[in-house]
Amino acid sequence: MDGEIVLKLSIVVPAYNEEETLELFVSEVNKQTEKLPLEKTFYFINDGSVDNTLGILKKLSVNKNIKYISFSKNFGKEAALLAGLREADGDYITVMDADLQDPPVMLNEMYTKIQEGFDIVGTCRVSRDGEPPIRSFFAKTFYKIINKISDTEMVDGVRDFRLMTRQVDSILKLKENNRFSKGIFSWVGFKTTYLPYENRERVAGTTSWSFFGLLKYSIDGIVNFSEAPLNIATFVGFVSFLTSCLLSLFYLVKTLIFGDAVQGFPTLIVLILLLGGLQLLSIGIIGKYIAKIFLETKKRPNYIIKESNIKSN
Ligand code: UDP
Ligand code: MG
Repeated sequence: MDGEIVLKLSIVVPAYNEEETLELFVSEVNKQTEKLPLEKTFYFINDGSVDNTLGILKKLSVNKNIKYISFSKNFGKEAALLAGLREADGDYITVMDADLQDPPVMLNEMYTKIQEGFDIVGTCRVSRDGEPPIRSFFAKTFYKIINKISDTEMVDGVRDFRLMTRQVDSILKLKENNRFSKGIFSWVGFKTTYLPYENRERVAGTTSWSFFGLLKYSIDGIVNFSEAPLNIATFVGFVSFLTSCLLSLFYLVKTLIFGDAVQGFPTLIVLILLLGGLQLLSIGIIGKYIAKIFLETKKRPNYIIKESNIKSN
């Protein structure tokens, strides 16, 4: 483009034990987005990998459009994303997984959408092929629940893979420590559209999500973006209090009229168990929120950088 200013694209990639995928990732992205009229810079975040991810990143970074940040330990994908977004200085920014499950070729179509006037172009999976059925089931249930009880809309199957304009700065303004990106991106608003695509297997390596890891992630999502569990606990507590008032009145009258026969032990036990259970549940829910407050008040940094080839920070 003679004389024209070339706009920049920052590609933010969290990487945890991705030694086998990184080189392929870079060459695939470069190959499949050849026609994109943007100058690409990669921002890899080595999230405390225990394999040779850092070594490979150093090797790749002889190319000056490849930057890396290396954490002092594993801080999780959300922290890695945050670190990358803080450094990314392109006119457009995209967030991608290193395992090529996010097809780079889609960037072309996403860029077209941006030019049509969208601020954020996200992606969502239309199928969950290649995923254990039980995991799909829980994922679907999670989205059903969260959309009923939270004002922040979350589309089923949404990936972190998205292309957005510079306005991403607003995401960094959310100072919360417990970061749930899917909710944050939706919360900040902007004109957003989602492109559907078929799920695909990662090119190499293994997923770092366990079932319980995902379960914890969904509970975090709910607690961070909804107060509904607290309301439910309050409501259930109120109803059972009212019921027990009415019941005691009923038994008082009954005893006064018919006398007291030793009866109703099963009912008693059931009631005690029920109420005890409800109380423990409510305390547990409240505890989750208090734990969040506790973590937020400590104001710990989301991550610690051990080394990086980015000079500006
Ligand atoms: N990842 C990370 N830190 C972690 C776990 C994962 O940076 O603690 C990165 C990982 O390297 C990959 C992306 O997050 O680029 C998605 O991870 P994965 O493929 O394991 O998740 P899945 O695609 O199965 O949801
Ligand atoms: Mg993956």
